[in-house]
Amino acid sequence: MQHLKLAALALATTALTPALPALADDHHKITDKPLELTVHMHGKRYQSYDESWPVEREACAWTNVCLKNATVGSNSNDSREAMNLLLASGDLPDIVGSEMFKDAANQFGPEGAFVPLNDLIDEHAPNLRAFFEARPELKAAVSAADGNMYYIPYLPDGKFGRGYFIRYDWLEALGLEVPQTVADYEAVLTAFRDQDPNGNGIKDEIPFFARQWEELIRLVTLWDGRSSGSDTPHDFLVEAGMIQHPYAQEGYRDGIKNLARWYAEGLVDAEVFTRGSSAREFLLSENLGGSTHDWFASTSGYNTTLSDSIAGFEFKAMAPPASPSGRRLEEHRRIPVKPDGWAISYANKHPVETIKYFDFWFSEEGRRLANFGVEGQHHDMVDGKPIFKEEILTNGRPVNSQMYEIGGQLPGRGYHQDYNYEIQWTNEYALEGLALYEAGDYLTDQFLGVAFNQKEQKVYDKYWSQIRTYMLERQQAWILGTGDVEADWDDYLSQLDRMGLNEVLKVMQSAYDRQYGKG
Ligand code: CA
Repeated sequence: MQHLKLAALALATTALTPALPALADDHHKITDKPLELTVHMHGKRYQSYDESWPVEREACAWTNVCLKNATVGSNSNDSREAMNLLLASGDLPDIVGSEMFKDAANQFGPEGAFVPLNDLIDEHAPNLRAFFEARPELKAAVSAADGNMYYIPYLPDGKFGRGYFIRYDWLEALGLEVPQTVADYEAVLTAFRDQDPNGNGIKDEIPFFARQWEELIRLVTLWDGRSSGSDTPHDFLVEAGMIQHPYAQEGYRDGIKNLARWYAEGLVDAEVFTRGSSAREFLLSENLGGSTHDWFASTSGYNTTLSDSIAGFEFKAMAPPASPSGRRLEEHRRIPVKPDGWAISYANKHPVETIKYFDFWFSEEGRRLANFGVEGQHHDMVDGKPIFKEEILTNGRPVNSQMYEIGGQLPGRGYHQDYNYEIQWTNEYALEGLALYEAGDYLTDQFLGVAFNQKEQKVYDKYWSQIRTYMLERQQAWILGTGDVEADWDDYLSQLDRMGLNEVLKVMQSAYDRQYGKG
């Protein structure tokens, strides 16, 4: 609704003032003579850099710095694998940009592969300097063990990511209220299983389902457990300045015990571990799925697309049900800084121009270009605000996908997202859900990760991967009914201890204290 109004306004304004062609704007010009820099740019959705992206052509026209594709590993969609190939080649382009870049930047930066950025930023990048002065915790989060920054990160904007969704029309059909506690939630899921809310006379409803099985594990939060301390599944957690792992905590044990029971009783999709990413699309369009935990904008979208085929269809957000202790927690949120971004390689002969180029993307116009595409082509300025063209908002395709195709919203580029870009294509159901979560204040602080020194890295590399594998094996076995988490718990903790969990927690803690300062 809102975006239609805005789009109409945009049209009216465009009709009054004919759009001017985007002119090269001198105040962003970094060099008089055009400067070409080579770039490795790799992400899931774009496996190499495209010089014809309209966003890039505009940046080149404004800054006089133009990038030339030199991506390695473009045949893989795995950015870490592409990065390994690039580093193994020993021949780095001027700029290295990638998703999942943080570990490589912080390990190989101090060894000389990438240029330390702190002094360059202080001397030549006023926008970056201002940003990190205002957000010192984000500077700490991207800094390597030696205290230097080696890459400029992608910084997401907005708070909310996923929330709880439930079929309000099913609740109404069965005369039930929106559940407020985990006990209510269980009663509602049980009623969905037994009382034929889809009205076809068959007991075919799937009360709780998830596109990603990690969202089932997330439900341990309903019994005061945790499943992750960040937006990455199974991540470490900070509690009162101390690094913990959620899968070694009692709330997790209680949560898994109850989820195993829910699974056995058919309150959870029997295929939750295998159904995969089409689960939401399939179970909603077949009128079978009752409740899930998923992204606000895309999940709310089904209210529009399924309203014709399923009479009365209403799949809306509900507040996180309260745990037995009364806690209402939405564990997932957008993280303010991603492990993605770009760096200046040792081979770059123009580090000053390059940091100025990185800084351009943190200027008002550069940030707008990265988020909204090119003025006149993809958005118009209305009352000083970028508003997407009506064609982009109404062609039925997600705006983020459209931006990826023109070089906008690239996580391999260090830039600061602007949440307004997303609000314009967020429907009224999602906005209602966001308002509910805003009012309830259900979010918690996130663990933003650490950068190890060499000694710590060795300990982590020696133990962590096997511990994680063991944790996930036990987790799935307990849910599926192999073993009993309560009976197995002491042995499980002893095994974690033997596998080196305490050693890993110690090096995480020392890195954390160095990076963020002792509380
Ligand atoms: Ca039924």
